[in-house]
Amino acid sequence: MADEWRRYLAQQIELGGAEVVLGRPVGRVDRRTAFPVADDSTVLHDTSDQPVPPTARPLVRPSSAWKKGAPPIPGLGFAVEAPSHGLDDELVALKTLEEVAERIRTTHCCALCPHRTNAVPGDGNSNARLVLVGEGPGATEDAQGKPFVGQAGNLLNGILEAIEVPRDSVYITNIVKCRPPQNRKPLPDEIAACIPYLHRQLEIIRPKVILALGGTAAEAMLGMRKSLGELRNKVHTYNGIPLVVTYHPAALLRNPNWKKPTWDDVRIVRQLLDR
Ligand code: URA
Repeated sequence: MADEWRRYLAQQIELGGAEVVLGRPVGRVDRRTAFPVADDSTVLHDTSDQPVPPTARPLVRPSSAWKKGAPPIPGLGFAVEAPSHGLDDELVALKTLEEVAERIRTTHCCALCPHRTNAVPGDGNSNARLVLVGEGPGATEDAQGKPFVGQAGNLLNGILEAIEVPRDSVYITNIVKCRPPQNRKPLPDEIAACIPYLHRQLEIIRPKVILALGGTAAEAMLGMRKSLGELRNKVHTYNGIPLVVTYHPAALLRNPNWKKPTWDDVRIVRQLLDR
């Protein structure tokens, strides 16, 4: 799916001008794969039979192609404070993401927990400037104990790549940390029981920007029932941290028409990170 996202992006933006840095002639970049391609007039590397050593392999300089046609940062939306009553003393005593993860893995907080193969506390960089919040683990995530490692995760990787944000620089988690049966939406009492962990994770990380993936994540974080249309294209704040709402990657797999608005949303996020 990352490939599909790249193909989509190639239609939206010009990747063709990106440079290949070799200290030697400059080549162009394949629009589909985003990797360098040689043409008759361009030598990308030695054509001898010897394998090219890793240091001599062409590198693609960041193209900042995402900037082309990026929408301006929109106006302010809702400002919410995380409810402090959800953070009981025990949770506040957990000082690191690993301690929070261990608590999630070793306790049952709602009816979803007994049915999990693995809890999925979250994954990524503890100093992340960007935190992405999804709805809840699916089957692949339940099997592996990591968020967004299935089909939707592949698409998410492509999206992050397109805005030149390495996946290992972000932190990814979900509203509920255990898989709802048949991937149904988490119920309000399941969200209420689990969301204090998310609040604590965000208190520990203190990211610069939060991206809520889909309506369930957005509503749970903002504590209100609104359509995605009402929540997108605004910069909300969660405990003072800018929070942007976009479509869930799984929804994009079902409805490609939502890729363009998603592309706009993530470019807003990218600009907020640069601010
Ligand atoms: N969908 C989600 O909301 N979260 C995941 O971790 C995977 C799919």
